[in-house]
Amino acid sequence: MSKIKVMDQNLANKIAAGEVVEKCASVVKELVENSIDAGSTDIKIELISSGVKSIKVTDNGIGMDKEDALLCFTPHATSKILTEDDLFNLSTLGFRGEALPSIASVSIVSLKTSDSKEGIKYELEGGKLVSKEKSDLRRGTIIEVKDLFYNTPARLKYLSSLQSELSNITNVINKQALSHTNIRFTLINDNKVLLKTDGSGNLLKVINDIYGVKVSKKMLKISCENDDYSVFGYISLPEVNKSNRNHLITIVNNRVVKNQEINKVINDAYHKYKPDNKYPIVVLKIDVDPSLIDVNIHPSKQDIKFSNFNDLKDMLFKEITKILDNNFLGIDISTKSVNVNNIVSNFNTDTVFDNNEYKELVMDFSTSESIVKEEESSYEYQDTDLTEEKKEVNTSFPDIYPIGSVLGTYIVCHNDKGMYLIDQHAAEERVNYEKYKKEMANPNKDIINMLFPINLEYTKDEFLIILNNIEFIRSLGIDIEEFGHNSFIIKAHPTWFKEGLEEEFIKNILEKIITMNNNFDLERFNDSISAMMACKASIKANTQISLEEMENIISKLKLCKNPYNCAHGRPTIIHYSTYELEKLFKRVM
Ligand code: ZN
Ligand code: ZN
Repeated sequence: MSKIKVMDQNLANKIAAGEVVEKCASVVKELVENSIDAGSTDIKIELISSGVKSIKVTDNGIGMDKEDALLCFTPHATSKILTEDDLFNLSTLGFRGEALPSIASVSIVSLKTSDSKEGIKYELEGGKLVSKEKSDLRRGTIIEVKDLFYNTPARLKYLSSLQSELSNITNVINKQALSHTNIRFTLINDNKVLLKTDGSGNLLKVINDIYGVKVSKKMLKISCENDDYSVFGYISLPEVNKSNRNHLITIVNNRVVKNQEINKVINDAYHKYKPDNKYPIVVLKIDVDPSLIDVNIHPSKQDIKFSNFNDLKDMLFKEITKILDNNFLGIDISTKSVNVNNIVSNFNTDTVFDNNEYKELVMDFSTSESIVKEEESSYEYQDTDLTEEKKEVNTSFPDIYPIGSVLGTYIVCHNDKGMYLIDQHAAEERVNYEKYKKEMANPNKDIINMLFPINLEYTKDEFLIILNNIEFIRSLGIDIEEFGHNSFIIKAHPTWFKEGLEEEFIKNILEKIITMNNNFDLERFNDSISAMMACKASIKANTQISLEEMENIISKLKLCKNPYNCAHGRPTIIHYSTYELEKLFKRVM
């Protein structure tokens, strides 16, 4: 019996509207999704010239009989969607079927397939059958699409550079591999293997295959569920930061979807640990009853709507926050096996963070990266469950004694466990950050009149936003009034504002209110204002301080809820154990 049916015209048109063969990546996506739907456990994708010359997909799926094999090149044939309702069911991969005839019409296709009873080989040029013969293939399908757009040269120009075609294809295959960890994927371009997964069903292994060992060692497991949703996946330490959101990957019922709201939850949960313009790597697999989700039927959008989304959102936010907090609190700051060459060379390499704060620092600082890099062999994140005891931060902060500083930036400390370096700016920033956050959360009435009131002028739209929020600003202890055309006068501020920085603090607060405008969120506001003020108020790098001042910073740092990171997630302290020092000097081997 034929597994492929010709779907009704109405539905076909709906789909066709969004389905066009544009790029090599969409051809690859179509072919690979067909292989997945055919129940394959091993899929090999071989490209020549990033797929522009040839895309060949070999699978070990159920294959097709000779009727189906021909029917699949007939417009509007599909084995996956029979009715409109099926469009909403995520247990099939989606909306395809239409794409194969489109692909065939603009390329030279050769198809070998066998349902293990009979093997057949077809060749098509521009969608027309040119040859048909028996094939010796045992089971599965080999399809090769050559010379894409050979007969429509005008469309060739829509192809991007080979490099960018290849990166799009890689992206497609990476996502398929993450969604289907039990399928073995091999991606080859011009005889070079770009990705190979083992199909063992281990998501962390696939992450490792895609991102490499440095990243996979920095992934933390997430696993949680509520009545409707079950979530499993891995989230990176904040220090693994990417400059775009492409690595926030949400997979719902084995299908990669795009959902801005989930991305926002992830970003919010990370925000205190990373700069705003950097993003972690997050792979979340969400399992849900298909009746609770609504898929946007426009195939290119892959968007999805969840029922009871607030519950899912709260669960994700809490879980990610918990994992990150626990990790930071319990982080083993020891450097394990540091090698001298690395320490030296890393002083000049780019940092993992590139927020403005770094502009204040004279020296580049990449220790946090180099240390985790060196820890790979001994540092096992992924399967360590974060136990309760790790929350006991303050007691775990070592008793350490400063003996001086290097480069006017790093306080050198010691105790019987070795040597410690403290970034004086990061440490004081953490202290101030926690202090300011408390003040921001419970503004008290202690305000002080300014000797010289300040007058601030804005554009009309900014003026209106501030006016809109004027009661809130007053609640912070800032005495603000309208003062003529588009301007305000400020006469008093809270006593805890750092002397000399009052005007800057006020300006920054108003600025933040303007930029947040409609997206205002009190927690984020307090957080980012506290971080900003703490950064400005804290001792700069490249500043000589006395031993007494160093002791003062350390004793305050020790009292912090999280003494190990600055307000932006950078480390405050680095430990070189006695053993590591001995190793560096080759006293021990
Ligand atoms: Zn700072
Ligand atoms: Zn900082």
